[in-house]
Amino acid sequence: MNGRLVILGTGPGNPEQTTPQARDAIAAGEQFFGYGPYLDRLNLRPDQHRMPSDNREEIGRARAALEAASKGASVCVVSGGDPGVFAMAAAICEAIETGPETWRRLEITVLPGVTAMLAVAARAGAPLGQDFCAISLSDNLKPWELIERRLRAVAEAGLVIALYNPISKARPWQLGTAFKILRESLPVTTPVIFGRAVGRPDEHFVVVPLGEADQQSADMATCVIIGSAETRIIERPGMDPLVYSPRGVGI
Ligand code: SAH
Repeated sequence: MNGRLVILGTGPGNPEQTTPQARDAIAAGEQFFGYGPYLDRLNLRPDQHRMPSDNREEIGRARAALEAASKGASVCVVSGGDPGVFAMAAAICEAIETGPETWRRLEITVLPGVTAMLAVAARAGAPLGQDFCAISLSDNLKPWELIERRLRAVAEAGLVIALYNPISKARPWQLGTAFKILRESLPVTTPVIFGRAVGRPDEHFVVVPLGEADQQSADMATCVIIGSAETRIIERPGMDPLVYSPRGVGI
C-alpha cells in the first residue's frame, strides 16, 4: 500500500509564520522526519512519531522517509523556513531520482514556507525590493571556488545578495572572505544586514556598512543580506532604520 509524503517548512521560527496549510499537514501526519530541533518545534501528539536525524544526514533521512511512505505511512518531512530553499525537498527529489521505481509512484506534496531571507528582509524594511539572489556559503556540497565566482558575478551584476549558511565551526573563514570579495566591487557604504534567529525569542538584528562588516557578527542561525549599490538606509529617531532597495534603477 502506498502512503503519502508531505515535505513542509515551519517558517523561520515564529509559530505564527508557519502557514495554515503546513499546520494542517502536521496535524494529519503520522511519522515525522527532520533535524531534531525542527521536530521539537512541532508539539506533536503522543500518537505521532518523531524520527529525528542529524543535520548532515539529509540523503539518508530522505531515503528513510520515502521507505516509510512506501510502506503506507503518512509521512511529513520537515525543514525550517521553506522546504525547497537549501533544504529537504531537493534531497527527496535526489533520492527519488536514484532510488527504486516504486518511489516514483508515491504521492508527494511540497508545501511552501516563509524562507529566512524573507523574514530578515521584512524585519529590515524592503532590501529585496529589487532584483536579488540567494547563495548558500556552505561548501559541503559544492567547491568554494564556485561560490567565489558566483559572489563576484552577482555583485558585479548589481543584485542584492542573501547569504544562507554563512558560518559554522567547520567553516570559520568563508564569510570573511566573502566580504573581502564583495568590497572589491561594492561601495564600502553598502548596507549589510545580519538577521539572527529572526522571529524567535533569541532574535538579533543589526545593520552595518560593508566596510565594517565582520564575520563574527554571524553564526549558523544568521541570514546575511548584502545590499546593492542602490540599497539605502532611512534613519528614524529611536527606532531601527529602514533598509530598502528602490524598485527601479536609474529612473
Ligand atoms: N530552508 C531554510 C534554510 C535552511 S539553510 C529556509 O528556507 O529558511 C539554514 C540557514 O537558514 C541558516 O544558516 C541561516 O542562514 C538561515 N536561517 C534559518 N532560520 C533563520 C532565522 N530564523 N533567522 C535568520 N536566518 C535563518
